[in-house]
Amino acid sequence: MVWLVDYRSYFYNIDLLILRLGRIASGYMARNLLYYSRMRYAVIADIHANLAAFTAVLSDIEHKGGVDEIWCLGDIVGYGPDPCQCIELLRRYKHVCVAGNHDWASTGKVDTAYFNPFATTACKWTHQQLSQDDIEYLDNLPQTIEKEDFLLVHGSPMEPIWEYITSIGVATRNFAYFRSLYCLAGHSHEPVIFREEDGSCVFVPFTPDIGMVLGEKRLIINPGGVGQPRDGDPRASYAIYDSESRIIKLHRIPYDIGATQDRMMQAGLPIHLITRLKAGR
Ligand code: ZN
Repeated sequence: MVWLVDYRSYFYNIDLLILRLGRIASGYMARNLLYYSRMRYAVIADIHANLAAFTAVLSDIEHKGGVDEIWCLGDIVGYGPDPCQCIELLRRYKHVCVAGNHDWASTGKVDTAYFNPFATTACKWTHQQLSQDDIEYLDNLPQTIEKEDFLLVHGSPMEPIWEYITSIGVATRNFAYFRSLYCLAGHSHEPVIFREEDGSCVFVPFTPDIGMVLGEKRLIINPGGVGQPRDGDPRASYAIYDSESRIIKLHRIPYDIGATQDRMMQAGLPIHLITRLKAGR
């Protein structure tokens, strides 16, 4: 009987020990998981076959310590002179990418009925440059991707390929079309943040080099365009998000605009598309 009690207490103590070790181990694992789950992402949109701009952005990302993954919001091609090189360069990096209207128009997956004549000309030229592998890659891009607290789209959650979120009205309507806290969208080539407020939303300026902590309020964030900015600043635009600090920061990067313009001249692309790069419009 005495032996039995000792025997039980022996196992009782072993149980306690295992429990304690388990707690220590799980605490250690949780701390390390927290440490290792810190991720940095580059949020880029609208490269538009502008290799000089894309290369400048990639060097800047490296200069800032690199990222774990690139989140690309579509329109890798269209307008610019180096579609194949931009696709190839993006594919060298760990990345995800959603489809843009120019990506699918250049493969013939959507038609160019909504395009202006300059975009249509560039689109036809782009189609002639693409390899079968490029076409398959672009055709297989999804319309939306969910990552952490974000929905990634090119245009809008409501119409991922075509809709521009450029007004409070359109932004407000779109908050009902995604469930995640935040949405990342491109397409307008203008950096901007819309914050949901009591059934409506407000416009928040997205200022370069000032980190913004993402809180509880839902947001639609546009990192601007890499290859054809349209907010009056011709420098390439992109953002970096840090999942630990929850800070997103916009960056504007000068690049050799003349080099891209020369390549566009050689390719015989429309002059309007060439001159607008310097104006950033
Ligand atoms: Zn675009």
